Amino acid sequence: GIADLQRPVLDAADPMDCSIYAGIPFCPTRCSYCSFVSRTVGDKATRALVQPYVDKLCRELTAIRETADRCGLRIRTFYIGGGTPTALSAAQLEQLMSHIARTFDLAALDEYTVEAGRPDCTDAEKLRIIKQYGATRISINPQTFSDEVLRNIGRRHTAQDIIDCFAAARAAGHTNINMDLIAGLPGDTVEGFTASLRQAIALDPENITVHTLTLKRASNLVVEHRAAAYDDVSAMLESCRELADAGYRPYYMYRQKGTLQNLENIGWAKPGCECLYNIYIMEEIHTILSAGAGGSTKLVIPGQRRGKIERIFNFKYPTEYIDRFEEILARKQGVEDFYARYTTT
Ligand code: SF4
Repeated sequence: GIADLQRPVLDAADPMDCSIYAGIPFCPTRCSYCSFVSRTVGDKATRALVQPYVDKLCRELTAIRETADRCGLRIRTFYIGGGTPTALSAAQLEQLMSHIARTFDLAALDEYTVEAGRPDCTDAEKLRIIKQYGATRISINPQTFSDEVLRNIGRRHTAQDIIDCFAAARAAGHTNINMDLIAGLPGDTVEGFTASLRQAIALDPENITVHTLTLKRASNLVVEHRAAAYDDVSAMLESCRELADAGYRPYYMYRQKGTLQNLENIGWAKPGCECLYNIYIMEEIHTILSAGAGGSTKLVIPGQRRGKIERIFNFKYPTEYIDRFEEILARKQGVEDFYARYTTT
């Protein structure tokens, strides 16, 4: 089924297509299972980094636009992820998104996603800004609708906050919303996961993505040995059949190292609402130009989909990204060198 859904997307791919990813490495608090480099904006030192980070990110995006133009690339999708992009203040989010709207031809994009991941930092004003500056898809990520499990993973909000955030997103005019769930969170049960799944379905988002918990060494769960017993995760995934009954279809799938029982992550979508960016990045269809700390640009050789990929890395931490920004800009030359190598015959 996934292959059938992806085939038209693959067939429509042009060798000179690309997508853009902009990363916001900040979050309101740290989830216990997180291994990402994201910094929590609760402490003063980190808060002081956010504004210079946004300023630099805007400059890097301008450089990416110029690079893409010089290489003759066509930008298909744009994705602002994290971390949690809505951990920015409303003014910083507006600065970033208005810069993107001025710098890129948003009308030419097929899709523009912003992760509005957590309700503890996503309010009506930020949802309005996201809509006003052209995003066509957002992601609100409950992970679970159990208040107890939310506490177990270090979230400071409740399930009701997620439901309220979803309603605020609809009120702001967002018509394509994804919700992420995780099977196998500490303290969750098969019944609890199924209840979360049913709650997500009841809200009727356009996408529901079901991840399996992945234990990575850098996460608090693993570092502090708080990973206790996990309930039957494969039975949790079995309950995802209810998604098919509710009209969702699986459209992309991937596995990661360290996932409980070596199970998978699956994106489900209502017909016509499949996230193109997810298909592009998972199937390595075209180049992804990444901006921000921890960004990894993936260069796909034109006409050689799923062939060898060349990568250019940005610095991992926001402080390095800010302090050594000129080196980041200099590395953009690598993108031009790559296309000069592979587009001249
Ligand atoms: S919201 Fe995501 S990136 Fe942020 S701490 Fe939680 S898992 Fe990590």
